[in-house]
Amino acid sequence: MGKILDGKKVSQKILASLRKEILVLNGKGIVPGLAIVQVGQNPASNVYVSKKLETAVGLGFNAFCEKFPAGVSFEEIKAKILQLNGDKKVSGMIVQLPLPKQLDEGKVMELIGSRKDVDGFSFVNQGKLFAGEPSFIPATPKGILALIKSTGKPVKGKNCVVVGRSNIVGKPVSQLLLAENGTVTVCHSKTKNIGWFTKNADILVVAAGKPRLIKGSMVKKGAIVIDVGTTKVKGKLVGDVDFESAKKRASFITPVPGGVGPMTIASLLQNTVAACRMQNNA
Ligand code: NAP
Repeated sequence: MGKILDGKKVSQKILASLRKEILVLNGKGIVPGLAIVQVGQNPASNVYVSKKLETAVGLGFNAFCEKFPAGVSFEEIKAKILQLNGDKKVSGMIVQLPLPKQLDEGKVMELIGSRKDVDGFSFVNQGKLFAGEPSFIPATPKGILALIKSTGKPVKGKNCVVVGRSNIVGKPVSQLLLAENGTVTVCHSKTKNIGWFTKNADILVVAAGKPRLIKGSMVKKGAIVIDVGTTKVKGKLVGDVDFESAKKRASFITPVPGGVGPMTIASLLQNTVAACRMQNNA
């Protein structure tokens, strides 16, 4: 029976150590600042934004959200991001995704200065990650790697399978595992016989957004299983892995909720403190 990889516990440790770092920074007259730009009233985004703000403010960040109506123009968003780029009190900035259709997400992300891009979504920061010289690692992939490392099992030499190839989860996770000397296979919606790959995975990361896509029979005995998926089904959050059957075969497995989710916020705040240090030479 697999051990539960408790993202809440691991993230609490990260947040406690961040709190100490922030107190030291405060002693030098420095307060890390996080700005969140949100467009529209997507209910899931509202929840994510308030969780990020609540955690950040609780740790002593100067954190705030700039909200815009769903019909906002690119020019208006651009003006706000450029203003925040120049604001010394803002160490890091994120744009909460998804954006409404009239706004090109790639173009909006490119407006964020790379030294403040704490979500790591700009082309500069994506490029650095792929070149093996990461600056700000996207929060969810960073949290996933931290969870894998919390098992104490090395990634080096392991067969790692990532299901999903999005720019915000699948691709960056595959790069991080590669950098840890894992042998990485990336599966996606056109992959034939996905179970053949997942059954050979010592480390399996699933980020497809398809509830219970991976059954226990598709998991290798003793595997570390990280379930990134979060889909609302009948009002409940459901992962991409069939938890009950998979936990019988895995050595470690994340629950949904309570696995990757809490790690995402902790990693974002780690990146913001790192940005603050960099900008203040502290
Ligand atoms: P995405 O942009 O929709 O990408 C999904 C990926 O999964 C695509 O690469 C897609 O393949 C692949 N896929 C879809 N159906 C598949 C199938 N049947 N078999 C194999 N691969 C399949 O999603 P995302 O942004 O990466 O997010 C993935 C999931 O993670 C979502 O449930 C999301 O809510 C969750 N998430 C959670 C957190 C957190 O903090 N907990 C953070 C981010 C995302 P193609 O490329 O071929 O289309």
